[in-house]
Amino acid sequence: MRSISRIGELREALAPERARSEIGLVPTMGAFHPGHLSLFDAARQAGGLVAVSIFINPAQFGADEDLARYPRDLERDARLAEDAGVDVLFVPDADEIYPPGFDTWVDVGELGSLLEGAARPDHFRGVATVCLKLFEIVRPARAYFGQKDAQQAAVVRQMVRDLDLDLQLDVRPTVRDDDGLAWSSRNAYLSLEERTQALALPAALLAGQEAYRRGEDPVPVARRRLGALTADYLSVADFGGPTLVAAVRVGTTRLIDNVRLDEEKSA
Ligand code: AMP
Repeated sequence: MRSISRIGELREALAPERARSEIGLVPTMGAFHPGHLSLFDAARQAGGLVAVSIFINPAQFGADEDLARYPRDLERDARLAEDAGVDVLFVPDADEIYPPGFDTWVDVGELGSLLEGAARPDHFRGVATVCLKLFEIVRPARAYFGQKDAQQAAVVRQMVRDLDLDLQLDVRPTVRDDDGLAWSSRNAYLSLEERTQALALPAALLAGQEAYRRGEDPVPVARRRLGALTADYLSVADFGGPTLVAAVRVGTTRLIDNVRLDEEKSA
C-alpha cells in the first residue's frame, strides 16, 4: 500500500493505474471501524485499484463542533487499510485541499438544508465540495458511501446527477455492533453509561420500522422509544426511498442513524 499526501503525487501514481484498471474510491475521515472496512471490502471485491482518502474536512464542521477532538490515529488506520487490501491511501492536510485563497463551493440546494443540514448549516456544502474535489483528483469509476449517513449519500447522489459526474455511486448498508449501535468514529466519545443510553437510538428506529410495517406513523412510535434521549430531529425523509432518520444527543456526543422503511432488514 502506498500512502500519499500530495495531490500531484497521487495523480502521477494513479494515471498509469487508471489505464490498466478501474479505480474505486472510499472517502473517509479516518478512525476506521467495521463500517469503513465494509466499504473497503466492497471496493476490493469490485476488482481494480482501491483508493481510500482520510481527510478530516474542516469545511464540514461548524465552529462549535468537534473538529479539534475528532479521533485521529493514522498509524492504526494505515495498518487496517493495508490489511483490508487498500492499494493507495490519500492523506492530504487541510492546506493541500484548501490552499490559501480557496473560495469555490458546491451549493447543494434544498436537500442540503433540511434535517442534518438544518442542524449543521454549511455541513453539506463542505461535504459536497470535498467529494467533488476528491472525485476530480482520483477520478474513480466507483465511489463507496455508507447508508449510515443517508442524507450525505443522497446529497452526493444529487451532485453526481446534477453535475454529470462520470462515476457510479455504491451505497452500502449500515454496519452495526452486536448491541445494535451503528459503528461511528464518534462512538469513541461515549462513556460506558452513555453507550448504554445510546442503544435507545437503534431501538427507536427499529420500533419505528415495525410500526411502519403495521401501517402506522413510525415517528411517534420511535419518539416514545427514544425515552430520555434528546432528538435534534426524528423524521421520515426520502433519501433514495422512505427513510426514518434521527440525530440525538447523548451527553455531549451527537449521534445519527437511520433505517430504510421499505426494506426487509434495518440498514
Ligand atoms: P466517515 O469517516 O465517518 O466520514 O465515514 C466514511 C464513510 O463510511 C461514509 O460514507 C460513511 O457513511 C461510511 N460509514 C460510516 N459509518 C458506517 C457504518 N456504521 N456502516 C457503514 N458505513 C459507514
